[in-house]
Amino acid sequence: MELMLEAEFACRKCGKVVSFKQYAVDRFCPSCGTLLRLRLHPKPWVFQFNPAVYRWFDRIKENRETEQWLTSRYVKDIREGDKVAIWASGEKAGIYAIGEIVTNPRKSSLNPEQEKYWTNINDISKFREEYSVVIKYLKVIIDRPLLEDECRKDPILSDMAVLKQPQGTNFILTKKEWNKIIELIDQEH
Ligand SMILES: [Zn+2]
Repeated sequence: MELMLEAEFACRKCGKVVSFKQYAVDRFCPSCGTLLRLRLHPKPWVFQFNPAVYRWFDRIKENRETEQWLTSRYVKDIREGDKVAIWASGEKAGIYAIGEIVTNPRKSSLNPEQEKYWTNINDISKFREEYSVVIKYLKVIIDRPLLEDECRKDPILSDMAVLKQPQGTNFILTKKEWNKIIELIDQEH
């Protein structure tokens, strides 16, 4: 029973994560009504890109399905089934997509289809040296992103790690922060 109380359930459609307690009351997603599935190790993350370094916006227009991402940090914690919010740095910083990680971190050279989107070809070699995962996108919100200003004004999201120490690709996100992101995205989209 102790273990079940730690268990979590996730919605495959919208990405909402709920506790066992909540699941015991209602087995359907409180946001969209889809049947919830057990997740043993679901953790939410923020993955950040710099549009000047990686032309993510160009690629997402051509492929909204899956994408390979570096996991330079938290290699032992990031797992298949985890959720991720995609954060763009720069002038229009904010969240532009949410997705699910569909592989465990592994050393794998970059998917050739993504190579042309790196502005500096030398960055591609990082994929041979570091671990990476594949993300499946659940929701792409490039037309109505959740921008940094809005996050900074929110009492929960203003504490996000990506806002406090914005260097790197992979950032911890709390479940409370994750659910707030889902809530705000659902409200506006
Ligand atoms: Zn849902």
